[in-house]
Amino acid sequence: MSLPLPAHLTLRHGELHFEDVPLERLAREHGTPLFVYSKAAILQALAAYQRGLAGRKHLICYAMKANSSLAILQVLVRAGCGLDIVSGGELERALAAGCAPERIVFSGVGKQRGEMRRALEVGIGCFNVESRAELDVLDEVARSMGLRARVSIRVNPDVDAKTHPYISTGLKGNKFGIAHSEVLQTYRHAAACAGLEVVGIDCHIGSQITEVAPYLDAMDRVLDLVAAIEAAGVPLHHIDFGGGLGIDYNGDTPPAADALWPQLLAKLDARGYGERTVMIEPGRSLVGNAGVCLTEVLFTKPGEQKNFLIVDAAMNDLPRPAMYQAFHRIEPVRPRADAASTVWDVVGPVCESGDWLGRDRALAVQQGDLLAVLSAGAYCMAMASNYNTRGRAAEVLVDGAMATPIRQRESAADQMRLETLLP
Ligand SMILES: *Cc1c(COP(=O)(O)O)cnc(C)c1O
Repeated sequence: MSLPLPAHLTLRHGELHFEDVPLERLAREHGTPLFVYSKAAILQALAAYQRGLAGRKHLICYAMKANSSLAILQVLVRAGCGLDIVSGGELERALAAGCAPERIVFSGVGKQRGEMRRALEVGIGCFNVESRAELDVLDEVARSMGLRARVSIRVNPDVDAKTHPYISTGLKGNKFGIAHSEVLQTYRHAAACAGLEVVGIDCHIGSQITEVAPYLDAMDRVLDLVAAIEAAGVPLHHIDFGGGLGIDYNGDTPPAADALWPQLLAKLDARGYGERTVMIEPGRSLVGNAGVCLTEVLFTKPGEQKNFLIVDAAMNDLPRPAMYQAFHRIEPVRPRADAASTVWDVVGPVCESGDWLGRDRALAVQQGDLLAVLSAGAYCMAMASNYNTRGRAAEVLVDGAMATPIRQRESAADQMRLETLLP
């Protein structure tokens, strides 16, 4: 293992532990594939943001699409987070996890009327609106309920987040936000709608951002807009700067949240906006490196061109490699110090060539060994599917020496529950 392990993951007595819990024991007790999360790692990641924003009026809204398991939400809500949601389903999860409605912000390009109604009925903090048409529908829905919807407009600052095209959202030519050139007229329109109360401005430039420059550029662009919007007579109470901060998957070196935020706050101060409430929507950076996925080697299949390690986790559990050619480190749970390593493609049982978890990995392993897929806390379980009628994995939350099951493994019966056989 050349690179250091993520926080709270250690090799003790020859085997991987998350906090004080040996991962092999969890795999034996709960089966594989199994997601294991560290509460301390989540709180440590959150603490960096809290330090970075200390002394400021702020609200950290965890972007729950990264990992929406109820117990994970509870950890973050109890530690003071609000939540950023993108669907009516996420709203119900947020409420079930005990999040105060006024600490919920609702993002996303395609909100349905029913979702808007429910969010207004429970009294969420803010809708982040992404188009003129959405503004008009939200206005109409709010008026029909005799309410005013608090809104921010998501602006597209047209900066290159220098990340994978599928997770870059702040450039012209993608579906997110209102184009820079149309922001002012959209704010004027929103301010004139009786069913809307303009409260802020919002942006989110992409995901897995590992450089400071795109954030600094976006902040400049957003503050230019704030000045123009307020000069047009529309006051803004908060500035929501979105999420997107990257994590270390494979030697990546994103800025730490408590190093990034002082630089961004300095820009706010320099331009006289230091008193505004700052909102942020981090997802991946709070939970990504706080989770691993344990999987068992089912078979070794050496070949002429490629050697395959066939494991019991697959693209339905860990969709990021298939979707974005993403890299997850894969480490043996009990490294074999004595054995020579072989170069393997680590693949799942799903009937797709795209079903791989890692390519060309040097590993000393045998059939029956356990592997840990690292950095699996974000955009893994939340993106898991039932493809090939594979039940979704179980989940466990570790806290010190304690391990709490937080989701049962999905059975075939669970998967068929909503279906109807023909007579
Ligand atoms: C996905 C998303 C986030 C979180 O992004 P991360 O890269 O996980 O931090 C925040 N805000 C919005 C609007 C999003 O769509």
